[in-house]
Amino acid sequence: MTSGPYDALIIGAGIVGSACSVEFSRAGLRTAIIEASVTGGGATAAGMGHLVVMDDSEAQFALTKYSLELWTELAQELPRTVEFDPCGTIWVAADEQELAAAKKKKDLYAAGGVDSEIIDSHALEKAEPNLRRGLAGGLLVHRDSVLYPPLAAAYLVEQAVSLGARLHRSAAIEITRRGLRLADGSLIDAGVIVNAAGVFAPALTPELPVRRRKGHLVITDRYPGWAKHQLVELGYLKSAHSDTSDSVAFNVQPRITGQLLIGSSRQFGIDDAGIDTVILSRMMRRACEYMPGLETLLAIRIWTGFRPATVDNLPFIGPWPGRDNLYIAAGHEGLGITTSLGTARILADQVLGRPSKISITPYLPSRVGTEAMSVESE
Ligand SMILES: Cc1cc2nc3c(=O)[nH]c(=O)nc-3n(C[C@H](O)[C@H](O)[C@H](O)COP(=O)(O)OP(=O)(O)OC[C@H]3O[C@@H](n4cnc5c(N)ncnc54)[C@H](O)[C@@H]3O)c2cc1C
Repeated sequence: MTSGPYDALIIGAGIVGSACSVEFSRAGLRTAIIEASVTGGGATAAGMGHLVVMDDSEAQFALTKYSLELWTELAQELPRTVEFDPCGTIWVAADEQELAAAKKKKDLYAAGGVDSEIIDSHALEKAEPNLRRGLAGGLLVHRDSVLYPPLAAAYLVEQAVSLGARLHRSAAIEITRRGLRLADGSLIDAGVIVNAAGVFAPALTPELPVRRRKGHLVITDRYPGWAKHQLVELGYLKSAHSDTSDSVAFNVQPRITGQLLIGSSRQFGIDDAGIDTVILSRMMRRACEYMPGLETLLAIRIWTGFRPATVDNLPFIGPWPGRDNLYIAAGHEGLGITTSLGTARILADQVLGRPSKISITPYLPSRVGTEAMSVESE
Protein backbone atom coordinates (compact mmCIF):
# COMPACT_ATOMS: atom_id res chain seq x y z
CA MET A 1 0.00 0.00 0.00
CA THR A 2 2.95 2.35 0.46
CA SER A 3 6.64 2.54 -0.30
CA GLY A 4 7.30 3.55 3.37
CA PRO A 5 8.04 1.07 6.14
CA TYR A 6 4.36 0.64 7.07
CA ASP A 7 1.02 0.24 5.36
CA ALA A 8 -0.81 1.39 8.48
CA LEU A 9 -0.06 3.40 11.62
CA ILE A 10 -2.50 3.08 14.50
CA ILE A 11 -2.45 5.84 17.11
CA GLY A 12 -3.37 4.43 20.52
CA ALA A 13 -3.05 1.00 22.11
CA GLY A 14 -6.32 1.13 24.00
CA ILE A 15 -8.69 -1.75 23.37
CA VAL A 16 -9.80 -0.20 20.07
CA GLY A 17 -6.34 0.45 18.58
CA SER A 18 -5.12 -2.92 19.89
CA ALA A 19 -7.98 -4.75 18.19
CA CYS A 20 -7.28 -2.84 14.96
CA SER A 21 -3.61 -3.80 15.12
CA VAL A 22 -4.43 -7.53 15.13
CA GLU A 23 -7.04 -7.23 12.42
CA PHE A 24 -4.69 -5.25 10.16
CA SER A 25 -1.73 -7.56 10.81
CA ARG A 26 -3.83 -10.63 10.15
CA ALA A 27 -4.85 -9.11 6.82
CA GLY A 28 -1.17 -8.78 5.89
CA LEU A 29 -0.82 -5.02 6.37
CA ARG A 30 2.57 -3.87 7.69
CA THR A 31 1.33 -2.22 10.85
CA ALA A 32 2.76 -0.08 13.64
CA ILE A 33 1.01 0.96 16.84
CA ILE A 34 1.99 4.33 18.30
CA GLU A 35 1.25 4.47 22.03
CA ALA A 36 2.28 7.42 24.19
CA SER A 37 1.87 5.56 27.46
CA VAL A 38 0.97 2.07 28.71
CA THR A 39 -0.89 -0.43 26.52
CA GLY A 40 -4.52 -0.44 27.65
CA GLY A 41 -3.80 2.28 30.19
CA GLY A 42 -6.41 4.88 29.11
CA ALA A 43 -10.18 4.47 29.32
CA THR A 44 -9.56 0.78 28.71
CA ALA A 45 -7.93 0.36 32.14
CA ALA A 46 -10.83 2.23 33.74
CA GLY A 47 -13.54 0.18 32.04
CA MET A 48 -15.69 -2.49 33.60
CA GLY A 49 -15.13 -5.08 30.90
CA HIS A 50 -18.79 -5.99 30.46
CA LEU A 51 -19.26 -7.43 26.96
CA VAL A 52 -22.89 -6.65 26.39
CA VAL A 53 -25.45 -6.56 23.61
CA MET A 54 -27.27 -3.21 23.76
CA ASP A 55 -30.28 -2.03 21.81
CA ASP A 56 -30.49 1.76 22.16
CA SER A 57 -30.51 1.89 18.36
CA GLU A 58 -30.45 -0.59 15.49
CA ALA A 59 -26.86 0.37 14.74
CA GLN A 60 -25.79 -0.12 18.35
CA PHE A 61 -27.49 -3.51 18.41
CA ALA A 62 -25.80 -4.58 15.16
CA LEU A 63 -22.30 -3.57 16.32
CA THR A 64 -22.58 -4.97 19.85
CA LYS A 65 -24.09 -8.26 18.64
CA TYR A 66 -21.45 -8.68 15.92
CA SER A 67 -18.70 -7.87 18.42
CA LEU A 68 -20.05 -10.36 20.97
CA GLU A 69 -19.87 -13.04 18.26
CA LEU A 70 -16.25 -12.11 17.59
CA TRP A 71 -15.40 -12.15 21.33
CA THR A 72 -17.05 -15.56 21.70
CA GLU A 73 -14.87 -16.89 18.86
CA LEU A 74 -11.74 -15.31 20.35
CA ALA A 75 -12.54 -16.58 23.85
CA GLN A 76 -11.20 -20.02 22.96
CA GLU A 77 -7.68 -18.61 22.62
CA LEU A 78 -7.65 -15.96 25.37
CA PRO A 79 -5.19 -16.66 28.19
CA ARG A 80 -6.58 -16.97 31.76
CA THR A 81 -5.08 -13.60 32.64
CA VAL A 82 -7.74 -11.94 30.48
CA GLU A 83 -10.34 -13.36 32.91
CA PHE A 84 -12.97 -13.99 30.24
CA ASP A 85 -16.16 -15.20 31.94
CA PRO A 86 -19.36 -15.90 29.99
CA CYS A 87 -21.47 -15.15 33.08
CA GLY A 88 -24.40 -13.55 31.23
CA THR A 89 -26.24 -10.36 32.14
CA ILE A 90 -29.41 -10.04 34.20
CA TRP A 91 -31.29 -6.82 33.47
CA VAL A 92 -33.09 -6.42 36.78
CA ALA A 93 -36.74 -5.29 36.70
CA ALA A 94 -37.78 -3.55 39.91
CA ASP A 95 -41.51 -3.53 39.15
CA GLU A 96 -44.12 -4.73 36.65
CA GLN A 97 -43.52 -1.75 34.37
CA GLU A 98 -39.84 -2.58 34.09
CA LEU A 99 -40.68 -6.24 33.59
CA ALA A 100 -42.88 -5.24 30.65
CA ALA A 101 -39.87 -3.31 29.26
CA ALA A 102 -37.73 -6.42 29.77
CA LYS A 103 -40.23 -8.47 27.76
CA LYS A 104 -40.05 -5.98 24.90
CA LYS A 105 -36.28 -6.17 25.04
CA LYS A 106 -36.46 -9.97 24.90
CA ASP A 107 -38.66 -9.86 21.78
CA LEU A 108 -36.26 -7.47 20.10
CA TYR A 109 -33.28 -9.65 21.01
CA ALA A 110 -35.06 -12.78 19.77
CA ALA A 111 -35.85 -11.09 16.45
CA GLY A 112 -32.15 -10.20 16.13
CA GLY A 113 -30.95 -13.71 17.03
CA VAL A 114 -29.77 -12.97 20.59
CA ASP A 115 -30.62 -15.63 23.13
CA SER A 116 -32.31 -14.37 26.31
CA GLU A 117 -35.06 -15.39 28.73
CA ILE A 118 -37.44 -13.68 31.13
CA ILE A 119 -37.05 -14.80 34.73
CA ASP A 120 -39.72 -14.19 37.33
CA SER A 121 -39.28 -12.87 40.84
CA HIS A 122 -38.74 -16.31 42.33
CA ALA A 123 -36.15 -17.36 39.70
CA LEU A 124 -34.33 -14.04 40.21
CA GLU A 125 -34.13 -14.64 43.98
CA LYS A 126 -32.74 -18.12 43.35
CA ALA A 127 -30.22 -16.95 40.76
CA GLU A 128 -29.01 -13.95 42.82
CA PRO A 129 -29.89 -14.35 46.52
CA ASN A 130 -28.06 -11.14 47.46
CA LEU A 131 -30.49 -8.96 45.50
CA ARG A 132 -33.18 -7.38 47.65
CA ARG A 133 -36.46 -9.28 47.95
CA GLY A 134 -39.57 -8.22 46.06
CA LEU A 135 -38.02 -7.37 42.68
CA ALA A 136 -40.29 -8.21 39.77
CA GLY A 137 -37.86 -10.37 37.78
CA GLY A 138 -35.50 -9.72 34.94
CA LEU A 139 -34.08 -10.55 31.54
CA LEU A 140 -31.19 -13.01 31.45
CA VAL A 141 -28.99 -12.55 28.37
CA HIS A 142 -26.99 -15.74 28.11
CA ARG A 143 -24.02 -14.88 25.86
CA ASP A 144 -23.00 -11.58 27.50
CA SER A 145 -19.62 -11.92 29.20
CA VAL A 146 -16.99 -10.05 31.17
CA LEU A 147 -13.21 -9.76 30.92
CA TYR A 148 -10.29 -7.74 32.28
CA PRO A 149 -9.84 -4.96 29.70
CA PRO A 150 -6.18 -3.85 30.06
CA LEU A 151 -4.90 -7.41 29.76
CA ALA A 152 -7.25 -8.04 26.83
CA ALA A 153 -5.63 -5.04 25.08
CA ALA A 154 -2.16 -6.30 25.97
CA TYR A 155 -3.02 -9.73 24.57
CA LEU A 156 -4.28 -8.23 21.30
CA VAL A 157 -1.11 -6.18 20.88
CA GLU A 158 1.01 -9.26 21.60
CA GLN A 159 -0.86 -11.11 18.87
CA ALA A 160 -0.31 -8.26 16.44
CA VAL A 161 3.40 -8.16 17.28
CA SER A 162 3.66 -11.92 16.77
CA LEU A 163 2.18 -11.33 13.30
CA GLY A 164 4.86 -8.72 12.53
CA ALA A 165 3.43 -5.45 13.88
CA ARG A 166 5.70 -2.94 15.67
CA LEU A 167 4.85 -1.10 18.88
CA HIS A 168 6.38 2.39 19.18
CA ARG A 169 6.26 3.98 22.64
CA SER A 170 5.93 7.58 21.57
CA ALA A 171 3.33 10.32 21.35
CA ALA A 172 2.00 11.24 17.92
CA ILE A 173 1.84 15.00 17.70
CA GLU A 174 0.63 15.59 14.15
CA ILE A 175 -1.07 13.63 11.41
CA THR A 176 0.50 14.72 8.13
CA ARG A 177 -0.48 14.01 4.52
CA ARG A 178 2.06 11.18 4.42
CA GLY A 179 2.09 9.81 7.93
CA LEU A 180 2.80 10.91 11.47
CA ARG A 181 5.07 13.30 13.30
CA LEU A 182 6.16 11.93 16.67
CA ALA A 183 7.09 13.80 19.85
CA ASP A 184 10.84 13.43 19.13
CA GLY A 185 10.31 15.21 15.80
CA SER A 186 10.70 12.09 13.67
CA LEU A 187 8.33 11.40 10.80
CA ILE A 188 6.91 7.98 9.93
CA ASP A 189 5.30 7.42 6.54
CA ALA A 190 2.37 5.10 6.01
CA GLY A 191 -0.44 4.59 3.53
CA VAL A 192 -3.10 4.72 6.22
CA ILE A 193 -3.28 6.43 9.62
CA VAL A 194 -5.88 5.33 12.17
CA ASN A 195 -6.74 7.77 14.93
CA ALA A 196 -7.74 5.45 17.81
CA ALA A 197 -6.66 7.79 20.59
CA GLY A 198 -9.94 7.62 22.56
CA VAL A 199 -10.76 10.87 24.37
CA PHE A 200 -7.50 12.31 23.01
CA ALA A 201 -8.52 11.73 19.37
CA PRO A 202 -9.65 15.37 18.86
CA ALA A 203 -6.16 16.61 19.80
CA LEU A 204 -4.98 15.11 16.50
CA THR A 205 -8.20 15.56 14.50
CA PRO A 206 -9.60 18.79 15.94
CA GLU A 207 -13.00 18.75 14.20
CA LEU A 208 -13.79 15.30 15.62
CA PRO A 209 -16.68 15.69 18.12
CA VAL A 210 -15.61 13.29 20.88
CA ARG A 211 -16.01 14.49 24.46
CA ARG A 212 -15.28 13.08 27.90
CA ARG A 213 -17.87 11.39 30.04
CA LYS A 214 -16.57 10.66 33.49
CA GLY A 215 -17.33 7.45 35.37
CA HIS A 216 -16.53 6.00 38.81
CA LEU A 217 -16.01 2.34 39.74
CA VAL A 218 -15.46 0.59 43.07
CA ILE A 219 -13.87 -2.84 43.49
CA THR A 220 -14.29 -5.00 46.59
CA ASP A 221 -12.20 -7.62 48.29
CA ARG A 222 -12.82 -11.25 47.28
CA TYR A 223 -16.28 -12.70 47.97
CA PRO A 224 -16.53 -15.71 45.62
CA GLY A 225 -20.09 -16.51 44.54
CA TRP A 226 -21.60 -13.34 46.02
CA ALA A 227 -23.00 -12.46 42.58
CA LYS A 228 -23.07 -14.80 39.60
CA HIS A 229 -24.15 -12.63 36.68
CA GLN A 230 -23.47 -9.09 35.59
CA LEU A 231 -26.42 -7.32 37.23
CA VAL A 232 -27.78 -4.11 35.76
CA GLU A 233 -30.95 -2.24 36.62
CA LEU A 234 -33.24 -1.65 33.67
CA GLY A 235 -33.28 2.02 34.67
CA TYR A 236 -29.61 2.08 33.52
CA LEU A 237 -30.86 2.67 30.00
CA LYS A 238 -32.45 5.98 31.06
CA SER A 239 -29.38 7.15 32.96
CA ALA A 240 -26.96 6.20 30.18
CA HIS A 241 -28.92 8.46 27.82
CA SER A 242 -29.04 11.55 29.98
CA ASP A 243 -26.96 14.27 28.34
CA THR A 244 -27.79 17.04 30.75
CA SER A 245 -27.41 15.73 34.28
CA ASP A 246 -25.13 13.51 36.32
CA SER A 247 -26.57 10.03 36.62
CA VAL A 248 -25.99 6.80 38.51
CA ALA A 249 -27.30 3.27 38.06
CA PHE A 250 -27.01 -0.08 39.79
CA ASN A 251 -24.44 -2.16 37.90
CA VAL A 252 -22.53 -4.97 39.65
CA GLN A 253 -20.09 -7.37 38.09
CA PRO A 254 -18.66 -10.59 39.55
CA ARG A 255 -14.98 -11.08 38.68
CA ILE A 256 -13.35 -14.48 38.31
CA THR A 257 -11.14 -13.44 41.26
CA GLY A 258 -14.24 -13.33 43.51
CA GLN A 259 -14.14 -9.53 43.60
CA LEU A 260 -17.18 -7.41 42.79
CA LEU A 261 -16.95 -4.40 40.54
CA ILE A 262 -19.58 -1.81 41.44
CA GLY A 263 -20.78 0.99 39.15
CA SER A 264 -21.82 3.14 37.57
CA SER A 265 -21.85 6.91 37.23
CA ARG A 266 -21.92 9.27 34.26
CA GLN A 267 -20.91 12.94 34.24
CA PHE A 268 -20.28 15.38 31.41
CA GLY A 269 -18.29 18.61 31.52
CA ILE A 270 -15.69 17.48 34.05
CA ASP A 271 -11.97 17.18 33.31
CA ASP A 272 -10.83 16.54 36.87
CA ALA A 273 -10.10 12.82 37.32
CA GLY A 274 -10.41 13.01 41.11
CA ILE A 275 -13.00 11.04 43.09
CA ASP A 276 -16.24 13.02 43.41
CA THR A 277 -17.58 11.90 46.78
CA VAL A 278 -21.06 13.26 46.11
CA ILE A 279 -21.70 11.19 43.00
CA LEU A 280 -19.80 8.25 44.48
CA SER A 281 -22.16 8.22 47.49
CA ARG A 282 -25.16 8.40 45.16
CA MET A 283 -23.78 5.50 43.14
CA MET A 284 -23.15 3.35 46.22
CA ARG A 285 -26.55 4.17 47.71
CA ARG A 286 -28.17 3.02 44.47
CA ALA A 287 -26.13 -0.20 44.50
CA CYS A 288 -27.09 -0.88 48.14
CA GLU A 289 -30.77 -0.32 47.36
CA TYR A 290 -30.56 -3.31 45.02
CA MET A 291 -28.06 -5.37 47.05
CA PRO A 292 -28.34 -4.29 50.70
CA GLY A 293 -25.54 -6.65 51.81
CA LEU A 294 -23.01 -4.68 49.78
CA GLU A 295 -22.79 -2.33 52.76
CA THR A 296 -20.98 -5.03 54.73
CA LEU A 297 -18.32 -5.77 52.08
CA LEU A 298 -14.85 -4.27 52.03
CA ALA A 299 -14.05 -1.94 49.12
CA ILE A 300 -10.36 -1.94 48.25
CA ARG A 301 -10.09 0.59 45.41
CA ILE A 302 -12.06 3.36 43.76
CA TRP A 303 -11.13 4.90 40.44
CA THR A 304 -12.45 7.10 37.66
CA GLY A 305 -12.13 7.14 33.90
CA PHE A 306 -13.37 9.09 30.90
CA ARG A 307 -15.56 7.49 28.28
CA PRO A 308 -15.04 8.89 24.76
CA ALA A 309 -18.60 10.01 24.02
CA THR A 310 -20.40 11.15 20.87
CA VAL A 311 -23.68 13.01 20.49
CA ASP A 312 -25.52 10.14 18.80
CA ASN A 313 -24.05 7.41 21.05
CA LEU A 314 -22.34 5.70 18.12
CA PRO A 315 -18.60 5.47 17.49
CA PHE A 316 -16.79 6.91 14.49
CA ILE A 317 -15.42 4.11 12.33
CA GLY A 318 -14.16 4.89 8.84
CA PRO A 319 -12.42 7.47 6.64
CA TRP A 320 -12.16 11.09 7.72
CA PRO A 321 -13.72 13.25 4.99
CA GLY A 322 -11.25 15.19 2.88
CA ARG A 323 -8.20 13.22 4.07
CA ASP A 324 -7.77 10.07 2.02
CA ASN A 325 -5.07 8.59 4.28
CA LEU A 326 -6.86 9.17 7.60
CA TYR A 327 -9.30 6.81 9.31
CA ILE A 328 -11.02 7.22 12.68
CA ALA A 329 -11.79 4.53 15.25
CA ALA A 330 -12.91 6.54 18.27
CA GLY A 331 -15.92 7.66 20.30
CA HIS A 332 -17.03 4.31 21.72
CA GLU A 333 -18.36 5.82 24.98
CA GLY A 334 -19.37 3.11 27.47
CA LEU A 335 -19.19 0.23 25.00
CA GLY A 336 -15.65 0.34 23.64
CA ILE A 337 -14.51 -2.88 25.28
CA THR A 338 -17.51 -4.68 23.79
CA THR A 339 -17.37 -3.11 20.33
CA SER A 340 -13.59 -3.08 19.82
CA LEU A 341 -13.52 -6.31 17.82
CA GLY A 342 -16.43 -5.36 15.57
CA THR A 343 -14.87 -1.92 15.06
CA ALA A 344 -11.54 -3.43 14.04
CA ARG A 345 -13.16 -5.85 11.62
CA ILE A 346 -15.33 -3.28 9.82
CA LEU A 347 -12.48 -0.76 9.73
CA ALA A 348 -10.17 -3.32 8.12
CA ASP A 349 -12.97 -4.13 5.65
CA GLN A 350 -13.06 -0.45 4.64
CA VAL A 351 -9.30 -0.09 4.35
CA LEU A 352 -9.05 -3.27 2.27
CA GLY A 353 -12.21 -2.72 0.22
CA ARG A 354 -13.82 -5.91 1.58
CA PRO A 355 -17.57 -6.27 2.12
CA SER A 356 -18.68 -6.04 5.76
CA LYS A 357 -21.02 -8.37 7.58
CA ILE A 358 -22.97 -5.41 9.02
CA SER A 359 -23.82 -2.07 7.44
CA ILE A 360 -20.98 0.41 8.03
CA THR A 361 -23.03 3.51 7.22
CA PRO A 362 -24.24 4.47 10.75
CA TYR A 363 -20.66 4.69 12.06
CA LEU A 364 -19.06 6.68 9.23
CA PRO A 365 -17.32 9.89 10.34
CA SER A 366 -18.91 11.62 7.32
CA ARG A 367 -21.98 12.12 9.54
CA VAL A 368 -20.09 14.87 11.41
CA GLY A 369 -21.79 18.18 10.66
CA THR A 370 -25.08 16.54 9.64
CA GLU A 371 -28.33 16.74 11.55
CA ALA A 372 -27.68 13.32 13.10
CA MET A 373 -24.90 14.90 15.14
CA SER A 374 -26.72 18.05 16.19
CA VAL A 375 -29.33 16.45 18.45
CA GLU A 376 -29.00 13.90 21.21
CA SER A 377 -30.58 10.65 20.04
CA GLU A 378 -33.21 9.19 22.33
C1 LIG B 1 -16.01 3.76 34.32
C2 LIG B 1 -16.08 3.13 32.94
C3 LIG B 1 -16.71 1.90 32.78
C4 LIG B 1 -16.77 1.31 31.52
N1 LIG B 1 -17.33 0.08 31.39
C5 LIG B 1 -17.38 -0.51 30.18
C6 LIG B 1 -17.94 -1.81 30.03
O1 LIG B 1 -18.34 -2.45 31.00
N2 LIG B 1 -18.02 -2.35 28.78
C7 LIG B 1 -17.57 -1.69 27.66
O2 LIG B 1 -17.69 -2.21 26.58
N3 LIG B 1 -16.98 -0.47 27.79
C8 LIG B 1 -16.90 0.13 29.01
N4 LIG B 1 -16.35 1.38 29.14
C9 LIG B 1 -15.93 2.10 27.94
C10 LIG B 1 -14.57 1.67 27.46
O3 LIG B 1 -13.67 1.59 28.55
C11 LIG B 1 -14.06 2.65 26.40
O4 LIG B 1 -15.05 2.87 25.42
C12 LIG B 1 -12.83 2.09 25.70
O5 LIG B 1 -11.85 1.71 26.64
C13 LIG B 1 -12.25 3.11 24.73
O6 LIG B 1 -11.08 2.52 24.21
P1 LIG B 1 -10.11 3.34 23.27
O7 LIG B 1 -9.09 2.38 22.78
O8 LIG B 1 -10.93 4.10 22.26
O9 LIG B 1 -9.51 4.46 24.22
P2 LIG B 1 -8.36 4.35 25.34
O10 LIG B 1 -8.43 3.10 26.09
O11 LIG B 1 -8.39 5.62 26.10
O12 LIG B 1 -7.03 4.27 24.48
C14 LIG B 1 -6.50 5.38 23.79
C15 LIG B 1 -4.99 5.25 23.83
O13 LIG B 1 -4.43 6.24 23.00
C16 LIG B 1 -3.23 6.69 23.60
N5 LIG B 1 -2.96 8.02 23.04
C17 LIG B 1 -3.72 9.13 23.17
N6 LIG B 1 -3.18 10.15 22.49
C18 LIG B 1 -2.05 9.66 21.92
C19 LIG B 1 -1.04 10.24 21.08
N7 LIG B 1 -1.12 11.52 20.68
N8 LIG B 1 -0.04 9.46 20.67
C20 LIG B 1 0.05 8.15 21.04
N9 LIG B 1 -0.86 7.57 21.84
C21 LIG B 1 -1.91 8.31 22.26
C22 LIG B 1 -3.56 6.72 25.09
O14 LIG B 1 -2.38 6.69 25.87
C23 LIG B 1 -4.42 5.46 25.22
O15 LIG B 1 -3.65 4.33 25.59
C24 LIG B 1 -16.23 1.98 30.40
C25 LIG B 1 -15.56 3.19 30.57
C26 LIG B 1 -15.48 3.77 31.83
C27 LIG B 1 -14.74 5.06 31.99
